Amino acid sequence: MKPVLGNVDEIFDLFDRFGDESYGEDVTQRAHALQAAWFACKAGEEDAMVVATLLHDVGQLLDDAGNVADREGRDALHEIGGAAILSGLFPEAILAPIRLHVPAKRYLCRVDPGYLGSLSAASLLSLSLQGGPFDADEAEAFLRLPFAAEAVRLRRYDDLGKEPDLKVPDLEFYRPLMESAALNGAPLG
Ligand code: FE
Repeated sequence: MKPVLGNVDEIFDLFDRFGDESYGEDVTQRAHALQAAWFACKAGEEDAMVVATLLHDVGQLLDDAGNVADREGRDALHEIGGAAILSGLFPEAILAPIRLHVPAKRYLCRVDPGYLGSLSAASLLSLSLQGGPFDADEAEAFLRLPFAAEAVRLRRYDDLGKEPDLKVPDLEFYRPLMESAALNGAPLG
C-alpha cells in the first residue's frame, strides 16, 4: 500500500529523495519531469495540465518503478500508483491525465503511424509490457474516457522531455501552481 501524500512539501520531498534516479534515457527523473512540464507551459496549457505533466511519472519515484521494466521485465503500473498517491491532493483534472498517460501511448501507437517508430528502446520495452498498441475497439473506448484528450497531449510533452542538456525552470517554479491546485483540492470521500 502506497502512502497518499498530504501536502505539496511531500512532493518536493519525493523529488529530493529519488529525483536523481535515472529515467532510463540519459536524463534523471527530475530532469524528465521538469522538461515535460516546461513543454506543457510553452504550449500554453492551463495550470492543471502543467501540474499533471510535471507529476505524471511520480509513481516511478516509488519502489524504483521506472527501472522495474528493465530489471525485472514487469510493468509496475506507475501511472496508477502515481495517481493514487496524489489522490488526496489534486482533482481529477490532474489525476486522470496521469492515470491515462500510458493508455495514451498505446492509443497513439494505434492512430499515429509515425509514433511507434519514434519511441525509444526503453519506451518500446515498456509498451510491450503494458499490452502493446491498442486495437481499433480499444482506441475508440479510450477516446470516450474523460480527459483522454488531455492524456494524449500530456503524452506528447512526456515524449519531448528526454534531452540530456536542456535547461528549464526548477521544481520551485511550479510550487505556486501545485499549491493552488491542491487548495482547489481533491473531491472528499
Ligand atoms: Fe514520462
